[in-house]
Amino acid sequence: MSIETSNEPIIDAEEILAGIQAWVGIETPSHLGQEVNKLVDLVESQMEALGAAIERTPGQDDFGDILIARTQWDHPPDTAGILVLSHLDTVHPLGTGQTTLQWRRDEDHVQGPGIYDMKAGAYIAYYAYQHLVRSGGRSRLPVTFFYVPEEEVGSPTSRAAIEAEARKNKYVLVTEPAREGGKCVTGRKGAGRFTVTAHGRQAHSGVRPQDGRSAIHEMARQILAIEALTDHDLGVTTNVGLIRGGTGVNVVPGECVVEVDLRVPTPELAAEYSDKILGLSTYDADVSLVIEGGMNRPPYEKDEGIAALYEHARALAAEIGFELEDMATGGGSDGNFTAALGIPTLDGLGADGHGPHTLDETIYFSSLAPMTKLWVRLFETLE
Ligand SMILES: [Zn+2]
Repeated sequence: MSIETSNEPIIDAEEILAGIQAWVGIETPSHLGQEVNKLVDLVESQMEALGAAIERTPGQDDFGDILIARTQWDHPPDTAGILVLSHLDTVHPLGTGQTTLQWRRDEDHVQGPGIYDMKAGAYIAYYAYQHLVRSGGRSRLPVTFFYVPEEEVGSPTSRAAIEAEARKNKYVLVTEPAREGGKCVTGRKGAGRFTVTAHGRQAHSGVRPQDGRSAIHEMARQILAIEALTDHDLGVTTNVGLIRGGTGVNVVPGECVVEVDLRVPTPELAAEYSDKILGLSTYDADVSLVIEGGMNRPPYEKDEGIAALYEHARALAAEIGFELEDMATGGGSDGNFTAALGIPTLDGLGADGHGPHTLDETIYFSSLAPMTKLWVRLFETLE
C-alpha cells in the first residue's frame, strides 16, 4: 500500500516495514548499552547518509549512547524548530526475538520485540525525513532527531539532555506508539517512584520470638496504607510492585523493602501524594521506616499550545484521509519532560498496534503509510 504525494517518490509501506525489521532485528534491552549501541551505529549511519549532522554522546552508567541528528537545510541559525523524540531501547531481554517473540507477519499484524514500543514509530519519523530528502523537499523548520538509549528505565542519563534540547525547539513530536485505534497522546500522568524500607529487629522465632520486631509485619500494614491512597476519581493510583524481606523462615525478619509506583494527573496532586508517601509513619514504634524517592516524570497536561498542535495534526490527517483522535494515558514517556517545560508536545505518533511490553507486541501494517504521510506533512507545514 502506498500514498501518492505531490512529489515523485512514493511512501512505500513495504519499504518502511523492511526498515523496521532491520531495527527490530538488533535487540536493545535498556540495561545493555553495548547492544543498544549496535542500533545507534545503524541509525547514525542512516541519518548521516541523508545529510544530517550527527552528535553522539557516550553513554553513562553502562547505558547506550545518546544520538542527535540535525537536518542541514538552510534554515537561519538558531531557528527554534521541531524536536523528534524517540527511544531505541526496549523492555525485552536479549534473545527474545530468537525465542518467545520472533518476527512474524500475519496479514495486517506484524510482531517482534519492541516493534510497537517504539521501533516502528522511530523508523516512521526517520522515513518521513528520508522521503523529504528523496523528493527534494524540506521542512519549514529545522528538525532535530533525538534518540534516547534508556527511556524504558526512566531516562536517568538522558533527561537533562532531552530538556536542554527541547528548550531550543518550538515543538516536540514523540514517536511513542499510537493507541486504541490510532489515537495520539496529548496528556500523560506523572509518575513517581519510592523505596520504602522497614527496619525491625531480628530474633530466633522459636527461642526468643518476644525479642523480635517483624519488619514484614510492619510492611504488610504499610502496603495496605499505600495502596489505600489510590483514588480513581482523582486519577491517582499507587502500586506496590516489588517486595523483598526476611532471611529465613525461622527468623523474625529484621528488614523489608518495597518499591512503589505513583501516578498522578496534575502537579498539585504530584506534590500532595508524594508528601503522603514520604510522610508515612510506623504502626509499631519499635520499627523504623526509611522512605526515599519522588516524582520521576512530571504530569503532561493538554494546555493551549498542545491543543493547537493537535488540531493542526488532526487537520493534516483529515486531508490525508483518516481521523486522528487524541487521548490521555497513565503511561509516562519522555514527552512528560518536554510538556512540563511548556513546549507544545504531541505524543503517540508512532504505529498503531497493541501489546506494548508483552510477548504479544504487535503493529498494524495498515497504519504505517498514513502515519508516515502525517509525519511528512507535519515537517512540511509546522512553522
Ligand atoms: Zn516507549
